[in-house]
Amino acid sequence: MTEDSADRVRLEEYSWPEVAALVERDPVAIVPVGAFEQHGDHLPLFVDAHLVGVVAEATALRASTTRQPVVVTPTVWTGYSPHHRDFPGTLTLDDETFGKVVGQVVTSLWFGGFRRILILNGHGGNANLLKNLIQTLRYDQGIKAAFASYWDFALKELADWRTSESGGIMHACEMETSLMLATRPGLVRMDRARDHFLEKSDYLMHDLLSGGPVAIASSFRELSPNGVIGAPTLASAKRGEVLLESIVDAIAGFVRDFAQWPLEIKQEDTE
Ligand SMILES: [Zn+2]
Repeated sequence: MTEDSADRVRLEEYSWPEVAALVERDPVAIVPVGAFEQHGDHLPLFVDAHLVGVVAEATALRASTTRQPVVVTPTVWTGYSPHHRDFPGTLTLDDETFGKVVGQVVTSLWFGGFRRILILNGHGGNANLLKNLIQTLRYDQGIKAAFASYWDFALKELADWRTSESGGIMHACEMETSLMLATRPGLVRMDRARDHFLEKSDYLMHDLLSGGPVAIASSFRELSPNGVIGAPTLASAKRGEVLLESIVDAIAGFVRDFAQWPLEIKQEDTE
């Protein structure tokens, strides 16, 4: 690793004069947002924060160039997880606090001169709140940021990659367990992994790749005795590496594109 800025993607490693020079080059900033919540008997609490941080950093390293750098902030490690609170160890913010924390990280970047900001999400329960956040940032404050959940970049790849039937990919599942085996195998207890499937429904989501028109707020305790929804027993480290690679590749492709989008917010919109 050289000191070339294309290789330095962690914002925390920069000094302020370096950041002042960095923003002159129209960089992309990625803000990974995770969660701290139960992931069954076989996975640790920081899965979502860990995975989104790994994906964000690998994406930045792949997409960053000396001409137009990509940097990553430290991961916002707490998310919106009241639906996991019945399992001890889960640490959550309420929706208002969560929006403020992420919103103020984004606002600080904007104030520092960053104009291409991607909020990269690693927890399904955060998604609606973060979509709402980018709207209020834009319409109330004139601050423009993009939002995406990392898995949404690779839904087609995920469909080809999976070995589980529908219901196998939701939470602490075939996907998350494989990604953990690929990145932190020492924290995965495969001997404790137990599959759990939701009842198939025409109305409610029962798999990451098959939604339904109806949303309902349930505690995970009501849905799963061990906190798992999906098929972690089908997870594999090798396939986790393959999936991670295609996710990072897809997001890096987006970031390169995003880096070229016009910056069109007009002055009167920022009042
Ligand atoms: Zn998770």
